[in-house]
Amino acid sequence: MPESPFDEEIRGFRLTPQRRAILRVLREAADHPDATWIYEQVRKELPHISLGTVYRNLSLLAEEGLIREIPLGHQPSRWDGRTDPHAHAICQRCGRVVDVELCLPQEVFTQVAESTGFRLLDARVLFEGLCPACQAQEREEGAAED
Ligand SMILES: [Zn+2]
Ligand SMILES: [Zn+2]
Repeated sequence: MPESPFDEEIRGFRLTPQRRAILRVLREAADHPDATWIYEQVRKELPHISLGTVYRNLSLLAEEGLIREIPLGHQPSRWDGRTDPHAHAICQRCGRVVDVELCLPQEVFTQVAESTGFRLLDARVLFEGLCPACQAQEREEGAAED
């Protein structure tokens, strides 16, 4: 097996070969893939892994703070190898999820905390719209209809 860039344990969390493979695939992925895509990639290295194992380990890795889950409601969650604070934008047409460098001003947290009484621990911001490629495609389709 090639030398792994990851330590056997990260903050006391044991990285099994499955977890290490999932983590590597996710950190190398430019996009924010769903579990099925991750499963297809990990299977090249670990042919006997099941989709259920991938799901279970994704949840565990997210609980440990090594990856982030991007829940999308009715669609399957996306997964992010980046864990530093950042927002996301999803294209409603093609489903592409991109990183948004956004630092929420402190007033936002203060307002939310004051109006809800919550002690806030985290915020997930998801913008929705049409990505540049889909905008171009819509323009082309619009032109074709004329
Ligand atoms: Zn798009
Ligand atoms: Zn991200």
